[in-house]
Amino acid sequence: DSPRYNELPDKSFLGTADFEKTCPGHFLIGSCENGHRFAKEIYCFQEWCPRCGAKWSEAHQRKFSRWLPKVQQMRQLGYLVIEWPLASRFRLRSKAALEDSGRMIKRVLSGEWEIERRRQRGERVSRQRKEDIRAWWFPEGLRRWHFFGDLVKELGEGMKSLAWVDKASESSPGGQGDRYNPHVNVLVSYGFITRGKFRRIKRALRAALQEPDLIVHYGYTREPARMIHALKYVTRATFLDGMWAPDVAASIYNFHNAQVWGKWDGELAWSLDELEGEPELKDLPDPLAVESLESGICPRCGKPLDWTGPYPIKVLEGMEKQDLGAGYCELEQVRAPPGMDLVMMLKAAGYFGPVIIEGELCGN
Ligand SMILES: [Zn+2]
Ligand SMILES: [Zn+2]
Repeated sequence: DSPRYNELPDKSFLGTADFEKTCPGHFLIGSCENGHRFAKEIYCFQEWCPRCGAKWSEAHQRKFSRWLPKVQQMRQLGYLVIEWPLASRFRLRSKAALEDSGRMIKRVLSGEWEIERRRQRGERVSRQRKEDIRAWWFPEGLRRWHFFGDLVKELGEGMKSLAWVDKASESSPGGQGDRYNPHVNVLVSYGFITRGKFRRIKRALRAALQEPDLIVHYGYTREPARMIHALKYVTRATFLDGMWAPDVAASIYNFHNAQVWGKWDGELAWSLDELEGEPELKDLPDPLAVESLESGICPRCGKPLDWTGPYPIKVLEGMEKQDLGAGYCELEQVRAPPGMDLVMMLKAAGYFGPVIIEGELCGN
C-alpha cells in the first residue's frame, strides 16, 4: 500500500484561514528503479478544508481513484443509503459512535452479524452454511459516511440516474443544508432487489443498530457511466464548514471515514476505454496513472516507488512537470531559479537528473 503521508495529523481543524495557507504545504518525490519520477502533493483531506472539500478537488479525486478499481469489478452497482431519524441523530455526534455504527453496518451487510446471531441462539453453523449466508448478503462492499445533505434532494436530483427501490419521500425531514444528518453510503455488487430481500436487510440493520426507525434507501445501475457518477458522489465531502457542527468536527478529527470489505481480486467488468468521450471522465486527466500512484506503483513500468520528502510545495513550482491529476505529476527536467541550495535540496530529495539554472545545464 502507498504511504499515507496525506493522513499525517494537522493541528488546525477549524481555522479555514490556516488551510488556505498550508494546504497543500508539502509534496513527496517518488522514484522507481528505472528512474521514473513523480511528485505527490500532500493534502490534509479534511472535509472543511477549502481546498480539499471542494467538488472534484485533488483529495476528492484520490478517494475516487482508490475505489475505482473495485467498482470496475462490478457488473451492476447497488447503492444503499442508511439514514437516522431526526430524533436519533444526536447519538451520532462522536467519533466513537460513528465508528461503531459504521462497523456494525459492515457486519450486517457482509453477513457476519447473521452468522453470529445464529450462533448466539445455539445454532450450529457449518462452514458451508456460513458461506451460503455470506453469499446471500454482500461478500464485497465499500462504505463511507456523509455528514450533511438533504437526502430527498440527493436521491431525487444528484442520484436520479439510478433506479431507486423506494421513493425518497420517506426520508427523514430536516436534512437540509447545514443541519447535521449523518448517513452511510454503501456500494455493493448487486442489481435489482426483491421487496422481500430489501425488507429483510432493513430489519437486520434496524435490529443491529437498535434503531427501529432507521431509514434505508436502495438504488442500482448496470451502466458504467452511472457507476462513475455514483462513485464521485459517495466520495465527495459534505462537511464543508467545521462550524456547522463544531463538536462533531473536533471529535472526528483523524476519523477513518471509509471501510472496504471482501476480496477484490476479480476481473474488471468494464474498462475506462469503453467510456471514452463520456463527460464523467473528462476532468480526470489520467485515471490509470493516479490509481497506480495511489498504490505506490510506477505507472510507467509497474515497479514499486520509493518516496522521499516531504519537501516544501514551493520547490515543486519550479520543476518541469506534467500534470496527471489528483495532485500528482510526472517529473522530467528541473528548472530551478538561481541558487545552488535548491539543487542541494533536490539531490537530498533523491533527484539526480539534470538541473537547469538560468538556461545553463549543470551535470551531477
Ligand atoms: Zn486540505
Ligand atoms: Zn518506472
